[in-house]
Amino acid sequence: MSERPKFFEQVNRHFDRAAALLDLPRGILSQIKECNAVYHVSFPLRRDDGEVEVIHGWRAHHSQHRLPVKGGMRLTKHASEDEVTALAALMTYKCALVDIPFGGAKGAIRIEKDDYSERELERIIRRYTYELVRRNCIGPGVDVPGPDMGVGAQEIAWMSDTYLSLSQGEVSAQGAVTGKPLSQGGVRGRVEATGRGVYFGLREAVSRKADMEPLGLSAGLDGKRVVIQGFGNVGYHAAKFMAEDGAVIVGILEREGAAYRADGFSADEVYRHREEGGSLLDLDADEKIEGGKEGAHGLTWDCDILIPAALESVIRKDNAPDIQAKILGEGANGPTTADADEILRERGVLVIPDMFLNAGGVTVSYFEWIKNLSNIRFGRMEQRFEAMANHRILRAVEELTGQSFNDGIFEKLAVGADEEDLVNSGLEETMVSGYEQMREMSILHDTDLRRAGMAVAIGKVARAYQERGIFP
Ligand code: NAD
Repeated sequence: MSERPKFFEQVNRHFDRAAALLDLPRGILSQIKECNAVYHVSFPLRRDDGEVEVIHGWRAHHSQHRLPVKGGMRLTKHASEDEVTALAALMTYKCALVDIPFGGAKGAIRIEKDDYSERELERIIRRYTYELVRRNCIGPGVDVPGPDMGVGAQEIAWMSDTYLSLSQGEVSAQGAVTGKPLSQGGVRGRVEATGRGVYFGLREAVSRKADMEPLGLSAGLDGKRVVIQGFGNVGYHAAKFMAEDGAVIVGILEREGAAYRADGFSADEVYRHREEGGSLLDLDADEKIEGGKEGAHGLTWDCDILIPAALESVIRKDNAPDIQAKILGEGANGPTTADADEILRERGVLVIPDMFLNAGGVTVSYFEWIKNLSNIRFGRMEQRFEAMANHRILRAVEELTGQSFNDGIFEKLAVGADEEDLVNSGLEETMVSGYEQMREMSILHDTDLRRAGMAVAIGKVARAYQERGIFP
């Protein structure tokens, strides 16, 4: 397998291709491309056995054209300055493309999560958060971390609690971190948001007959065969929502190996099985591969849609020629190297880029941040009012027509939207309109979606700088 290319360089290669479509001065393009700041912290951890170990962490602020900056936190043994910088840049373009008013950031702590006890993890996360507070690198108007690989509601709750304990009565302090548990100011729908967004994005991509015909596919998700790499937060939820809309999850790839079944897996059953300590390799399947190096196993299996939802740079020039999928839906950040992207384009594979497809997470994080700033649950003011208004409309129709509706109709229609309905509707609107903007640009310039989406994003960031009078 070829060596991992520098990740930030890969993102910048995409940037340069897209910038060539735009008539923007070189100065503004250079400003957008650079990373504004990267913080590297190191601190000692006393392990449960008394040994002391030095822990390294990073936080990158790629673009502060809008504040706060926003981006996930990950715990991985591969964490590096290059990785957080590249991921922070992707966040800038992602937020701009789907109209989330944040700059891009990303953070990471270099640890293999499974090697630490829960108490050790808590100490690591709290100390990292404290280091960010000391540098004014976290806060609802400064930088708002969220979940990413290896970081779920528990780690976010530790970050939020540490920030709250140091914030001295700041009224919107809960908005310093997103992805919190509901009881700590989280929002309904955040956990599954990225996977649900992947589903909305792919549903849009396959919805037009004219776009599917060149791939030899019919329009719609029904019956589409899907292979997913990474069955964590993003992969599992994407699989679940895709299957609920008729797609067949034929292949699942995880650390321990990969399993393929032509008649499809139940996402929920596989997820439960693994949660209980089971492996993909003991599932009933047509084909299995034991875990190989860096998740390459199974990526070339026959399918209509391949969704990498684990690591970056897993599709490279050595395996890109063998990818059989007709559509590549990038659930993970940066799963495809620039060389591999070129090969896939030449081969006519439709690539739905990460900067659009996994934007559901930051979209719902934005909703959570708004909720924390306004200190009120979405729907609290309107839900009952809407339900009563709908009830009155149904009664008026009954009076006008002389016909009575049954209780079932009232139960279905005389309701108001609750927080989850509003969040999911806002997410769907964001993904549909983001896809539309990217597709229109791709038609205008007769180019691929990645280049088009990046061009839309760069144009918006440039406008933000120009409107502030920084550049002509
Ligand atoms: P996660 O930790 O919940 O899941 C990642 C999964 O990938 C795990 O189940 C892990 O075992 C698996 N994995 C790790 N190495 C693998 C390998 N070599 N082969 C196959 N599987 C492997 O992380 P996540 O939050 O689902 O993030 C996955 C990707 O999605 C990352 O690139 C992340 O940056 C991106 N993303 C996540 C979010 C979010 O809201 N969580 C938002 C946007 C983008």
